[in-house]
Amino acid sequence: MLNIQTKLFINGQFVNGQGSLENIINPATGEVIIQVAEASPAQIEEAVRAAAVAFPIWKKTTPRDRATLLLKLADAIEVNAETFANLESMNCGKPYLAALNDEMPAVADVFRFFAGAVRNMTGLLAGEYLPGHTSMIRRDPLGVVASIAPWNYPLMMAAWKLGPAIAAGNTVVLKPSEMTPLTALKLGELIAEIFPAGVINIIAGRGESVGAPMISRPEVQMISITGDISTGQKIMDVAAKRVKRTHLELGGKAPVIVFDDADLASVVEGVRTFGFYNAGQDCTAACRIYAGKKIYEKLVAELTSAVASIKVGAQHDEGVEMGPLISERQRNRVASFIDRATAQKHIEITTGGKIRKGSGFFYEPTIIAGARQTDEIVCKEVFGPVVSITPFDDEAQVLNWANESEYGLASSVWTHDISRAMRVSAELQYGCTWVNTHFMLVSEMPHGGMKKSGYGKDMSTYAIEDYSVVRHVMVKL
Ligand code: NAD
Repeated sequence: MLNIQTKLFINGQFVNGQGSLENIINPATGEVIIQVAEASPAQIEEAVRAAAVAFPIWKKTTPRDRATLLLKLADAIEVNAETFANLESMNCGKPYLAALNDEMPAVADVFRFFAGAVRNMTGLLAGEYLPGHTSMIRRDPLGVVASIAPWNYPLMMAAWKLGPAIAAGNTVVLKPSEMTPLTALKLGELIAEIFPAGVINIIAGRGESVGAPMISRPEVQMISITGDISTGQKIMDVAAKRVKRTHLELGGKAPVIVFDDADLASVVEGVRTFGFYNAGQDCTAACRIYAGKKIYEKLVAELTSAVASIKVGAQHDEGVEMGPLISERQRNRVASFIDRATAQKHIEITTGGKIRKGSGFFYEPTIIAGARQTDEIVCKEVFGPVVSITPFDDEAQVLNWANESEYGLASSVWTHDISRAMRVSAELQYGCTWVNTHFMLVSEMPHGGMKKSGYGKDMSTYAIEDYSVVRHVMVKL
Protein backbone atom coordinates (compact mmCIF):
# COMPACT_ATOMS: atom_id res chain seq x y z
CA MET A 1 0.00 0.00 0.00
CA LEU A 2 1.27 3.44 -0.90
CA ASN A 3 1.69 5.82 1.97
CA ILE A 4 0.00 8.97 0.63
CA GLN A 5 0.94 12.22 2.31
CA THR A 6 -1.81 14.84 2.09
CA LYS A 7 -0.68 17.38 4.68
CA LEU A 8 0.64 20.80 3.79
CA PHE A 9 4.26 21.52 4.73
CA ILE A 10 4.57 24.90 6.40
CA ASN A 11 7.57 26.14 8.38
CA GLY A 12 8.94 22.62 8.78
CA GLN A 13 5.62 21.25 10.10
CA PHE A 14 3.06 18.97 8.47
CA VAL A 15 -0.42 20.39 8.94
CA ASN A 16 -3.84 19.48 7.64
CA GLY A 17 -5.17 21.94 5.12
CA GLN A 18 -8.01 23.98 6.56
CA GLY A 19 -9.56 24.98 3.26
CA SER A 20 -12.00 23.10 1.07
CA LEU A 21 -11.50 19.49 0.03
CA GLU A 22 -10.34 18.51 -3.45
CA ASN A 23 -10.93 15.05 -4.90
CA ILE A 24 -7.69 13.67 -6.32
CA ILE A 25 -8.59 11.42 -9.26
CA ASN A 26 -6.89 8.51 -10.96
CA PRO A 27 -7.35 9.47 -14.64
CA ALA A 28 -7.10 5.84 -15.79
CA THR A 29 -10.22 4.88 -13.83
CA GLY A 30 -11.94 8.14 -12.97
CA GLU A 31 -11.97 7.03 -9.33
CA VAL A 32 -11.08 9.20 -6.35
CA ILE A 33 -7.66 8.26 -4.91
CA ILE A 34 -7.89 10.48 -1.87
CA GLN A 35 -9.00 13.94 -0.82
CA VAL A 36 -6.61 16.80 -0.17
CA ALA A 37 -7.67 19.83 1.83
CA GLU A 38 -6.34 23.07 0.43
CA ALA A 39 -4.62 25.80 2.41
CA SER A 40 -6.85 28.32 4.18
CA PRO A 41 -6.11 32.06 3.85
CA ALA A 42 -4.38 31.94 7.26
CA GLN A 43 -2.23 29.00 6.17
CA ILE A 44 -1.23 30.75 2.94
CA GLU A 45 -0.11 33.73 5.00
CA GLU A 46 1.73 31.47 7.43
CA ALA A 47 3.62 29.71 4.62
CA VAL A 48 4.70 32.95 2.97
CA ARG A 49 5.70 34.45 6.34
CA ALA A 50 7.71 31.33 7.19
CA ALA A 51 9.61 31.69 3.92
CA ALA A 52 10.19 35.39 4.65
CA VAL A 53 11.53 34.65 8.13
CA ALA A 54 13.80 31.88 6.84
CA PHE A 55 15.22 34.02 4.03
CA PRO A 56 17.77 36.25 5.86
CA ILE A 57 19.45 33.19 7.36
CA TRP A 58 19.24 31.00 4.26
CA LYS A 59 20.65 33.70 1.98
CA LYS A 60 23.79 33.82 4.14
CA THR A 61 24.56 30.15 3.61
CA THR A 62 27.39 29.49 1.17
CA PRO A 63 26.87 27.92 -2.25
CA ARG A 64 28.67 24.87 -0.84
CA ASP A 65 26.18 24.58 2.05
CA ARG A 66 23.22 24.85 -0.27
CA ALA A 67 24.76 22.45 -2.77
CA THR A 68 25.28 19.86 -0.03
CA LEU A 69 21.58 19.92 0.85
CA LEU A 70 20.46 19.83 -2.78
CA LEU A 71 22.66 16.79 -3.35
CA LYS A 72 21.10 15.10 -0.32
CA LEU A 73 17.66 15.82 -1.73
CA ALA A 74 18.64 14.30 -5.08
CA ASP A 75 19.93 11.17 -3.32
CA ALA A 76 16.74 10.88 -1.26
CA ILE A 77 14.59 11.19 -4.38
CA GLU A 78 16.57 8.41 -6.01
CA VAL A 79 16.14 6.16 -2.97
CA ASN A 80 12.39 6.82 -3.03
CA ALA A 81 12.04 6.82 -6.82
CA GLU A 82 9.57 3.95 -6.91
CA THR A 83 7.27 5.61 -4.40
CA PHE A 84 7.34 8.89 -6.29
CA ALA A 85 6.85 7.14 -9.64
CA ASN A 86 3.87 5.24 -8.26
CA LEU A 87 2.26 8.38 -6.89
CA GLU A 88 2.97 10.36 -10.04
CA SER A 89 1.66 7.72 -12.40
CA MET A 90 -1.43 7.08 -10.29
CA ASN A 91 -2.24 10.78 -10.04
CA CYS A 92 -1.47 11.69 -13.68
CA GLY A 93 -2.33 8.41 -15.42
CA LYS A 94 1.20 8.12 -16.88
CA PRO A 95 2.68 4.71 -17.60
CA TYR A 96 4.48 3.74 -14.39
CA LEU A 97 7.72 2.81 -16.14
CA ALA A 98 7.89 6.16 -17.91
CA ALA A 99 7.49 7.95 -14.58
CA LEU A 100 10.13 5.71 -13.00
CA ASN A 101 12.72 5.55 -15.77
CA ASP A 102 12.30 8.90 -17.52
CA GLU A 103 11.07 11.38 -14.96
CA MET A 104 12.62 10.37 -11.65
CA PRO A 105 16.24 10.32 -12.91
CA ALA A 106 15.61 13.71 -14.55
CA VAL A 107 14.22 15.11 -11.29
CA ALA A 108 17.27 13.97 -9.29
CA ASP A 109 19.59 15.28 -12.00
CA VAL A 110 18.07 18.76 -11.89
CA PHE A 111 18.86 19.10 -8.18
CA ARG A 112 22.38 17.74 -8.77
CA PHE A 113 22.94 20.14 -11.65
CA PHE A 114 21.97 23.19 -9.58
CA ALA A 115 24.10 21.98 -6.67
CA GLY A 116 27.13 22.09 -8.99
CA ALA A 117 26.15 25.12 -11.04
CA VAL A 118 25.70 27.52 -8.13
CA ARG A 119 29.33 26.92 -7.12
CA ASN A 120 30.50 27.78 -10.63
CA MET A 121 28.77 31.02 -11.47
CA THR A 122 30.84 33.53 -13.46
CA GLY A 123 30.47 37.17 -14.37
CA LEU A 124 32.11 40.49 -15.20
CA LEU A 125 35.56 41.27 -13.85
CA ALA A 126 35.84 43.58 -10.87
CA GLY A 127 37.88 46.62 -11.88
CA GLU A 128 38.43 50.36 -11.85
CA TYR A 129 35.98 51.61 -14.47
CA LEU A 130 36.14 55.07 -12.88
CA PRO A 131 39.60 56.11 -11.67
CA GLY A 132 39.89 55.66 -7.91
CA HIS A 133 36.80 53.46 -7.68
CA THR A 134 36.54 49.69 -7.77
CA SER A 135 33.35 48.20 -9.16
CA MET A 136 32.23 44.66 -8.68
CA ILE A 137 29.19 42.62 -9.50
CA ARG A 138 27.22 40.59 -7.01
CA ARG A 139 24.48 38.13 -7.87
CA ASP A 140 22.11 37.94 -4.93
CA PRO A 141 18.90 36.07 -4.15
CA LEU A 142 15.60 37.92 -4.35
CA GLY A 143 13.73 36.71 -1.27
CA VAL A 144 10.52 34.71 -1.19
CA VAL A 145 9.62 33.05 -4.49
CA ALA A 146 6.04 31.86 -5.03
CA SER A 147 6.27 28.86 -7.36
CA ILE A 148 3.22 27.50 -9.13
CA ALA A 149 3.38 24.21 -11.01
CA PRO A 150 1.13 22.57 -13.62
CA TRP A 151 -0.26 19.03 -13.71
CA ASN A 152 1.59 17.47 -16.64
CA TYR A 153 4.92 16.73 -14.90
CA PRO A 154 4.17 17.68 -11.30
CA LEU A 155 7.39 16.60 -9.60
CA MET A 156 9.66 17.57 -12.47
CA MET A 157 8.14 21.04 -12.67
CA ALA A 158 8.55 21.36 -8.90
CA ALA A 159 12.23 20.42 -9.32
CA TRP A 160 12.72 22.91 -12.15
CA LYS A 161 11.38 25.62 -9.86
CA LEU A 162 12.95 24.62 -6.56
CA GLY A 163 16.42 23.78 -7.91
CA PRO A 164 17.52 27.21 -9.17
CA ALA A 165 15.54 29.22 -6.59
CA ILE A 166 17.01 27.36 -3.62
CA ALA A 167 20.51 27.13 -5.09
CA ALA A 168 20.50 30.90 -5.58
CA GLY A 169 19.61 31.44 -1.89
CA ASN A 170 15.89 32.24 -2.11
CA THR A 171 13.19 30.66 -0.01
CA VAL A 172 10.11 29.20 -1.68
CA VAL A 173 6.43 28.52 -1.25
CA LEU A 174 5.48 25.88 -3.81
CA LYS A 175 1.93 25.27 -4.96
CA PRO A 176 1.41 22.20 -7.13
CA SER A 177 -1.64 21.94 -9.37
CA GLU A 178 -4.85 21.20 -7.47
CA MET A 179 -5.25 18.11 -9.66
CA THR A 180 -1.81 16.63 -8.99
CA PRO A 181 -0.48 17.54 -5.55
CA LEU A 182 0.58 14.08 -4.34
CA THR A 183 4.27 13.99 -5.30
CA ALA A 184 4.94 17.56 -4.21
CA LEU A 185 3.32 16.92 -0.83
CA LYS A 186 5.35 13.71 -0.50
CA LEU A 187 8.51 15.65 -1.33
CA GLY A 188 7.83 17.60 1.85
CA GLU A 189 8.79 14.49 3.84
CA LEU A 190 12.26 14.48 2.30
CA ILE A 191 12.66 18.24 2.57
CA ALA A 192 11.74 18.09 6.27
CA GLU A 193 14.75 15.85 6.91
CA ILE A 194 17.20 17.96 4.93
CA PHE A 195 16.39 21.69 4.84
CA PRO A 196 15.93 24.20 7.68
CA ALA A 197 12.31 25.04 8.52
CA GLY A 198 10.71 27.65 6.28
CA VAL A 199 13.19 27.42 3.39
CA ILE A 200 10.76 25.34 1.33
CA ASN A 201 7.03 25.35 2.07
CA ILE A 202 4.45 23.38 0.11
CA ILE A 203 0.78 24.28 0.05
CA ALA A 204 -1.99 22.65 -1.94
CA GLY A 205 -5.00 24.26 -3.52
CA ARG A 206 -6.66 25.80 -6.52
CA GLY A 207 -5.35 28.71 -8.51
CA GLU A 208 -7.99 31.21 -7.51
CA SER A 209 -8.34 30.31 -3.83
CA VAL A 210 -4.68 29.58 -3.02
CA GLY A 211 -2.42 30.63 -5.92
CA ALA A 212 -3.85 34.12 -6.31
CA PRO A 213 -3.73 35.12 -2.61
CA MET A 214 -0.25 33.58 -2.29
CA ILE A 215 1.27 35.66 -5.09
CA SER A 216 -0.43 38.82 -3.83
CA ARG A 217 1.32 38.68 -0.45
CA PRO A 218 3.71 41.61 -0.03
CA GLU A 219 6.54 39.28 1.14
CA VAL A 220 6.61 37.53 -2.25
CA GLN A 221 9.35 39.05 -4.41
CA MET A 222 9.06 36.80 -7.43
CA ILE A 223 6.35 34.66 -8.99
CA SER A 224 7.24 31.63 -11.04
CA ILE A 225 4.51 29.88 -12.97
CA THR A 226 4.29 27.10 -15.51
CA GLY A 227 0.82 26.97 -16.94
CA ASP A 228 -1.60 28.30 -19.47
CA ILE A 229 -1.10 31.63 -21.27
CA SER A 230 -4.28 33.02 -19.71
CA THR A 231 -2.99 32.10 -16.24
CA GLY A 232 0.32 33.78 -17.01
CA GLN A 233 -1.58 36.92 -18.02
CA LYS A 234 -3.53 36.95 -14.75
CA ILE A 235 -0.30 36.58 -12.85
CA MET A 236 1.29 39.45 -14.73
CA ASP A 237 -1.66 41.64 -13.77
CA VAL A 238 -1.08 40.88 -10.10
CA ALA A 239 2.68 41.33 -10.49
CA ALA A 240 2.23 44.66 -12.28
CA LYS A 241 0.44 46.19 -9.30
CA ARG A 242 3.45 45.61 -7.05
CA VAL A 243 6.16 45.45 -9.72
CA LYS A 244 7.09 41.89 -8.81
CA ARG A 245 9.42 39.76 -10.88
CA THR A 246 7.80 37.01 -12.89
CA HIS A 247 9.12 33.84 -14.47
CA LEU A 248 6.64 32.54 -17.02
CA GLU A 249 6.65 29.18 -18.78
CA LEU A 250 3.45 29.05 -20.77
CA GLY A 251 2.05 26.95 -23.59
CA GLY A 252 3.50 25.77 -26.86
CA LYS A 253 2.64 24.47 -30.31
CA ALA A 254 5.88 23.07 -31.65
CA PRO A 255 6.44 23.14 -35.42
CA VAL A 256 8.20 20.08 -36.79
CA ILE A 257 9.67 20.96 -40.19
CA VAL A 258 10.32 17.89 -42.32
CA PHE A 259 12.21 18.59 -45.55
CA ASP A 260 12.03 16.17 -48.48
CA ASP A 261 15.55 14.84 -47.81
CA ALA A 262 14.84 13.95 -44.17
CA ASP A 263 15.31 10.40 -42.98
CA LEU A 264 11.72 9.17 -43.06
CA ALA A 265 12.18 6.37 -40.52
CA SER A 266 13.71 8.77 -37.97
CA VAL A 267 10.91 11.28 -38.46
CA VAL A 268 8.25 8.61 -38.02
CA GLU A 269 9.92 7.20 -34.93
CA GLY A 270 10.53 10.70 -33.56
CA VAL A 271 6.96 11.92 -34.00
CA ARG A 272 5.50 8.65 -32.73
CA THR A 273 7.52 9.10 -29.58
CA PHE A 274 7.69 12.85 -29.07
CA GLY A 275 4.23 13.74 -30.31
CA PHE A 276 2.49 11.30 -27.99
CA TYR A 277 4.70 11.16 -24.92
CA ASN A 278 2.64 11.94 -21.82
CA ALA A 279 -0.43 11.63 -24.08
CA GLY A 280 0.73 14.78 -25.86
CA GLN A 281 0.22 16.82 -22.71
CA ASP A 282 3.55 18.48 -23.14
CA CYS A 283 4.27 22.06 -24.08
CA THR A 284 7.07 20.92 -26.44
CA ALA A 285 5.10 18.02 -28.02
CA ALA A 286 5.93 17.43 -31.69
CA CYS A 287 2.38 18.27 -32.74
CA ARG A 288 2.48 20.63 -35.74
CA ILE A 289 4.17 18.89 -38.65
CA TYR A 290 5.03 20.65 -41.88
CA ALA A 291 6.16 18.20 -44.54
CA GLY A 292 7.78 18.88 -47.93
CA LYS A 293 5.54 17.96 -50.87
CA LYS A 294 7.69 14.99 -51.95
CA ILE A 295 7.81 13.32 -48.54
CA TYR A 296 4.28 14.26 -47.43
CA GLU A 297 2.30 11.24 -48.70
CA LYS A 298 4.80 8.70 -47.45
CA LEU A 299 5.06 10.44 -44.10
CA VAL A 300 1.28 10.47 -43.64
CA ALA A 301 1.06 6.75 -44.52
CA GLU A 302 3.93 5.57 -42.34
CA LEU A 303 3.16 7.82 -39.42
CA THR A 304 -0.45 6.68 -39.49
CA SER A 305 0.47 3.03 -39.12
CA ALA A 306 3.18 3.79 -36.53
CA VAL A 307 0.81 5.86 -34.41
CA ALA A 308 -1.97 3.28 -34.72
CA SER A 309 0.41 0.84 -33.01
CA ILE A 310 0.87 2.97 -29.86
CA LYS A 311 -0.24 0.89 -26.92
CA VAL A 312 -2.73 2.87 -24.86
CA GLY A 313 -3.57 1.71 -21.37
CA ALA A 314 -3.45 2.12 -17.62
CA GLN A 315 -0.34 2.81 -15.56
CA HIS A 316 0.79 -0.79 -15.01
CA ASP A 317 -0.54 -2.46 -18.19
CA GLU A 318 2.12 -4.49 -19.90
CA GLY A 319 3.90 -2.60 -22.66
CA VAL A 320 1.74 0.50 -22.18
CA GLU A 321 3.12 3.52 -24.01
CA MET A 322 0.42 6.11 -23.52
CA GLY A 323 -1.99 6.74 -20.70
CA PRO A 324 -5.21 8.74 -20.39
CA LEU A 325 -5.57 12.50 -20.35
CA ILE A 326 -5.47 14.20 -17.00
CA SER A 327 -9.20 14.80 -16.59
CA GLU A 328 -12.58 14.37 -18.20
CA ARG A 329 -12.56 18.07 -18.95
CA GLN A 330 -9.23 17.87 -20.76
CA ARG A 331 -10.37 14.82 -22.69
CA ASN A 332 -13.56 16.57 -23.78
CA ARG A 333 -11.52 19.61 -24.76
CA VAL A 334 -9.34 17.45 -27.00
CA ALA A 335 -12.44 15.76 -28.46
CA SER A 336 -14.01 19.12 -29.28
CA PHE A 337 -10.86 20.19 -31.18
CA ILE A 338 -11.15 17.04 -33.29
CA ASP A 339 -14.87 17.51 -33.84
CA ARG A 340 -14.29 21.01 -35.14
CA ALA A 341 -11.39 19.84 -37.31
CA THR A 342 -13.36 16.98 -38.88
CA ALA A 343 -16.15 19.37 -39.79
CA GLN A 344 -13.75 20.77 -42.41
CA LYS A 345 -13.78 18.94 -45.74
CA HIS A 346 -10.05 19.20 -46.47
CA ILE A 347 -9.09 17.47 -43.22
CA GLU A 348 -8.67 13.71 -42.94
CA ILE A 349 -8.28 11.79 -39.69
CA THR A 350 -6.00 8.93 -40.71
CA THR A 351 -5.97 7.22 -37.33
CA GLY A 352 -7.61 7.80 -33.95
CA GLY A 353 -10.06 10.65 -33.55
CA LYS A 354 -12.22 9.04 -30.90
CA ILE A 355 -12.72 8.85 -27.17
CA ARG A 356 -11.89 5.36 -25.94
CA LYS A 357 -14.95 3.68 -24.48
CA GLY A 358 -14.92 2.49 -20.88
CA SER A 359 -13.65 4.07 -17.70
CA GLY A 360 -10.88 6.62 -17.53
CA PHE A 361 -10.15 9.64 -19.68
CA PHE A 362 -8.55 7.98 -22.69
CA TYR A 363 -8.36 9.47 -26.16
CA GLU A 364 -6.97 7.62 -29.16
CA PRO A 365 -3.63 8.75 -30.61
CA THR A 366 -4.70 10.82 -33.59
CA ILE A 367 -3.17 11.94 -36.88
CA ILE A 368 -4.79 14.73 -38.84
CA ALA A 369 -3.69 14.94 -42.47
CA GLY A 370 -4.32 17.77 -44.90
CA ALA A 371 -4.48 20.44 -42.22
CA ARG A 372 -4.02 24.01 -43.42
CA GLN A 373 -2.00 26.79 -41.84
CA THR A 374 -5.07 28.75 -40.79
CA ASP A 375 -6.91 25.77 -39.27
CA GLU A 376 -7.57 25.90 -35.55
CA ILE A 377 -5.89 22.51 -35.15
CA VAL A 378 -2.66 24.00 -36.54
CA CYS A 379 -2.82 27.28 -34.64
CA LYS A 380 -4.01 26.32 -31.15
CA GLU A 381 -2.42 24.21 -28.45
CA VAL A 382 -4.48 21.01 -28.06
CA PHE A 383 -2.40 19.51 -25.22
CA GLY A 384 -3.45 16.00 -26.15
CA PRO A 385 -2.46 13.05 -28.38
CA VAL A 386 -3.10 14.85 -31.64
CA VAL A 387 -0.60 15.59 -34.42
CA SER A 388 -1.46 17.56 -37.57
CA ILE A 389 0.40 17.35 -40.88
CA THR A 390 0.47 20.17 -43.41
CA PRO A 391 2.28 20.02 -46.78
CA PHE A 392 4.52 22.96 -47.74
CA ASP A 393 6.08 24.21 -50.98
CA ASP A 394 9.46 25.67 -50.04
CA GLU A 395 11.75 26.82 -47.26
CA ALA A 396 10.55 30.42 -47.22
CA GLN A 397 6.91 29.37 -46.92
CA VAL A 398 7.50 26.89 -44.13
CA LEU A 399 9.61 29.34 -42.15
CA ASN A 400 6.82 31.88 -42.38
CA TRP A 401 4.25 29.33 -41.30
CA ALA A 402 6.34 28.01 -38.45
CA ASN A 403 6.94 31.51 -37.08
CA GLU A 404 3.39 32.71 -37.70
CA SER A 405 2.30 31.59 -34.25
CA GLU A 406 1.59 33.20 -30.91
CA TYR A 407 3.71 30.46 -29.31
CA GLY A 408 7.50 30.31 -29.27
CA LEU A 409 8.69 27.45 -27.09
CA ALA A 410 10.07 24.53 -29.10
CA SER A 411 10.61 23.56 -32.74
CA SER A 412 12.48 21.02 -34.82
CA VAL A 413 14.00 20.74 -38.28
CA TRP A 414 14.52 17.43 -40.05
CA THR A 415 16.95 17.36 -43.00
CA HIS A 416 20.29 15.92 -44.12
CA ASP A 417 21.36 19.33 -45.41
CA ILE A 418 23.41 20.88 -42.61
CA SER A 419 23.44 24.35 -44.20
CA ARG A 420 19.68 24.34 -44.44
CA ALA A 421 19.37 23.08 -40.86
CA MET A 422 21.58 25.91 -39.59
CA ARG A 423 19.84 28.55 -41.72
CA VAL A 424 16.37 27.53 -40.61
CA SER A 425 17.38 27.15 -36.95
CA ALA A 426 18.72 30.70 -37.00
CA GLU A 427 15.42 32.05 -38.35
CA LEU A 428 13.00 30.16 -36.08
CA GLN A 429 11.48 32.25 -33.30
CA TYR A 430 11.46 29.53 -30.67
CA GLY A 431 13.32 29.09 -27.38
CA CYS A 432 14.63 25.76 -28.62
CA THR A 433 15.25 24.22 -32.03
CA TRP A 434 16.24 20.59 -32.40
CA VAL A 435 17.80 19.25 -35.58
CA ASN A 436 16.84 15.68 -36.55
CA THR A 437 15.35 15.06 -33.12
CA HIS A 438 12.79 16.67 -30.84
CA PHE A 439 11.98 16.90 -27.15
CA MET A 440 15.39 16.05 -25.71
CA LEU A 441 16.25 18.15 -22.65
CA VAL A 442 19.39 18.31 -20.53
CA SER A 443 19.86 20.07 -17.21
CA GLU A 444 22.82 22.08 -18.58
CA MET A 445 20.76 23.75 -21.33
CA PRO A 446 17.95 26.29 -20.92
CA HIS A 447 14.30 25.49 -21.51
CA GLY A 448 12.01 28.43 -22.08
CA GLY A 449 10.05 30.36 -24.61
CA MET A 450 9.56 33.45 -26.70
CA LYS A 451 6.35 35.35 -27.52
CA LYS A 452 3.30 34.15 -25.55
CA SER A 453 5.12 31.00 -24.46
CA GLY A 454 6.72 33.22 -21.83
CA TYR A 455 10.27 34.28 -21.05
CA GLY A 456 11.46 32.35 -18.01
CA LYS A 457 14.36 29.96 -18.43
CA ASP A 458 14.26 26.64 -16.59
CA MET A 459 17.36 24.55 -16.00
CA SER A 460 20.92 25.69 -16.89
CA THR A 461 22.78 28.57 -15.26
CA TYR A 462 20.33 30.93 -16.99
CA ALA A 463 17.72 29.75 -14.50
CA ILE A 464 19.99 30.75 -11.61
CA GLU A 465 20.26 34.15 -13.28
CA ASP A 466 16.47 34.36 -13.52
CA TYR A 467 16.10 33.57 -9.82
CA SER A 468 18.66 36.13 -8.67
CA VAL A 469 19.53 39.78 -9.18
CA VAL A 470 22.69 41.41 -10.49
CA ARG A 471 23.94 44.14 -8.18
CA HIS A 472 26.76 46.63 -8.57
CA VAL A 473 28.96 47.47 -5.59
CA MET A 474 31.34 50.43 -6.06
CA VAL A 475 34.10 51.24 -3.59
CA LYS A 476 35.85 54.65 -3.55
CA LEU A 477 39.51 53.97 -2.95
P1 NAD B 1 -3.09 26.23 -15.59
O1 NAD B 1 -2.64 27.55 -16.07
O2 NAD B 1 -4.52 25.94 -15.54
O3 NAD B 1 -2.56 25.97 -14.12
C1 NAD B 1 -1.19 26.06 -13.80
C2 NAD B 1 -1.05 26.37 -12.34
O4 NAD B 1 -1.49 27.71 -12.11
C3 NAD B 1 -1.89 25.49 -11.41
O5 NAD B 1 -1.12 25.18 -10.26
C4 NAD B 1 -3.06 26.39 -11.06
O6 NAD B 1 -3.64 26.08 -9.83
C5 NAD B 1 -2.39 27.74 -11.03
N1 NAD B 1 -3.29 28.88 -11.22
C6 NAD B 1 -4.37 28.95 -12.02
N2 NAD B 1 -4.93 30.18 -11.94
C7 NAD B 1 -4.18 30.89 -11.07
C8 NAD B 1 -4.26 32.23 -10.57
N3 NAD B 1 -5.22 33.09 -10.95
N4 NAD B 1 -3.32 32.64 -9.70
C9 NAD B 1 -2.34 31.81 -9.32
N5 NAD B 1 -2.22 30.54 -9.74
C10 NAD B 1 -3.13 30.08 -10.62
O7 NAD B 1 -2.28 25.21 -16.48
P2 NAD B 1 -2.37 23.63 -16.44
O8 NAD B 1 -3.65 23.29 -17.10
O9 NAD B 1 -2.06 23.11 -15.08
O10 NAD B 1 -1.13 23.22 -17.36
C11 NAD B 1 -1.23 23.13 -18.73
C12 NAD B 1 -0.59 24.35 -19.36
O11 NAD B 1 0.76 24.51 -18.91
C13 NAD B 1 -0.49 24.19 -20.86
O12 NAD B 1 -0.89 25.37 -21.51
C14 NAD B 1 0.99 23.94 -21.09
O13 NAD B 1 1.46 24.29 -22.34
C15 NAD B 1 1.64 24.70 -20.00
N6 NAD B 1 2.97 24.16 -19.73
C16 NAD B 1 4.06 24.86 -20.09
C17 NAD B 1 5.34 24.38 -19.85
C18 NAD B 1 6.56 25.15 -20.24
O14 NAD B 1 7.65 24.80 -19.87
N7 NAD B 1 6.44 26.24 -20.99
C19 NAD B 1 5.49 23.17 -19.20
C20 NAD B 1 4.35 22.46 -18.83
C21 NAD B 1 3.09 22.98 -19.09
